[in-house]
Amino acid sequence: MTTLKDLKNKMKVPVNEPVISEDSKKNVAEALATGWLSSSGPFVKKFEETFAGFVGRRFGAAVSNGTAALHIALLSLGIGKGDEVIVPAFSMGACFLSVLYTGAKPVFVDCELETYNIDPKKIEEKITKKTRAIMAVHTYGHPCDMDPILAIAKKHNLRVIEDAAEAHGATYKGKKCGSFGTVSCFSFYANKIITTGEGGMVLTDDEKIADEARKIRDLHHSNFKRFIHDEIGYNYRLTNIQAGIGLGELSHIDEYLTRKEKLAKRYKEGLSGIPGLRLPITKPDVKNVYWMYGVLIDQKKFGMDRDTLREQLAKNGIDTRDFFYPPEEQPVLKNIVKSEKFANAAYAGHNGLYLPSGLAITETQIDYVVETIKKIAGK
Ligand SMILES: *Cc1c(COP(=O)(O)O)cnc(C)c1O
Repeated sequence: MTTLKDLKNKMKVPVNEPVISEDSKKNVAEALATGWLSSSGPFVKKFEETFAGFVGRRFGAAVSNGTAALHIALLSLGIGKGDEVIVPAFSMGACFLSVLYTGAKPVFVDCELETYNIDPKKIEEKITKKTRAIMAVHTYGHPCDMDPILAIAKKHNLRVIEDAAEAHGATYKGKKCGSFGTVSCFSFYANKIITTGEGGMVLTDDEKIADEARKIRDLHHSNFKRFIHDEIGYNYRLTNIQAGIGLGELSHIDEYLTRKEKLAKRYKEGLSGIPGLRLPITKPDVKNVYWMYGVLIDQKKFGMDRDTLREQLAKNGIDTRDFFYPPEEQPVLKNIVKSEKFANAAYAGHNGLYLPSGLAITETQIDYVVETIKKIAGK
């Protein structure tokens, strides 16, 4: 057993350390032993069915990563040049990059500071004749406010693409994140709640969209003849080895969600009441899965800025990450965003960080992080 004293001597808390179950190891060994290495193996279909069932969707298409899932989702809805897609100003770059891949234009909407999710009140003013879809992203595990988003989409005849890459198992009004979008996307990157190392999935209830997504993922071979290509397709396939890991991990999701809940509870108990340190909240009617435990620093009240706090924590062996940066600070977007500013996304980007939140983190490590922050804050 590692004690608090050992930790202080070793002083290492990684920002994310995954847990890999014995079931996953067994499945990988089986994939290797049977020679089913590529996407043709039996675990892929089984993983698609099991994960779609978990989220409550009819169809799942496993893909090579979450960014590919978003790209396929957009393409499967026919989105491309001349179209606009509403995306959150505070999010992972894959959201706007995937829109750029298709030739469409990402149109940004600022976030709420409470949850860092897209602010539904600011969506309608960004809708034009060219708008085709709204990308709803559940940031850091907290579901976004789906009711107003779905209502706006319905009113303006838009599709909803849900990005639940950070929200495996989260719920909004009792329904799983990933069950709301016309198409929904997940990532299984190593720091996500369910991982396959690299990987992702596209989910939908629409059989036509599911078929199209499967074709796009596999070079768009024609239905009639293999090696005849009726459209542009990609190689975005997931391997049988990866799907074996996904199945192994998925069988432990309840345990993982409990770990995340406990982690958040322990951080909250330890860090509540420190002036200038804003902790995550959970709105009524949702289950927050705390993918990452993000905090906001009010420089004046806390007594130092985010970057200084991160440096101090690093000196004590505690690894953290900055929040996402806003569109106006992304050189790749300079011709799209022009002089627009996103005040909340910029504030979060410059004052937010997330604490070590991986599934392998121990109570002792959390207590060490809490104690170190308190010491730095002079509490
Ligand atoms: C991780 C993530 C992605 C991208 O997934 P990859 O598997 O890394 O390509 C997309 N959107 C969000 C919100 C993410 O957190």
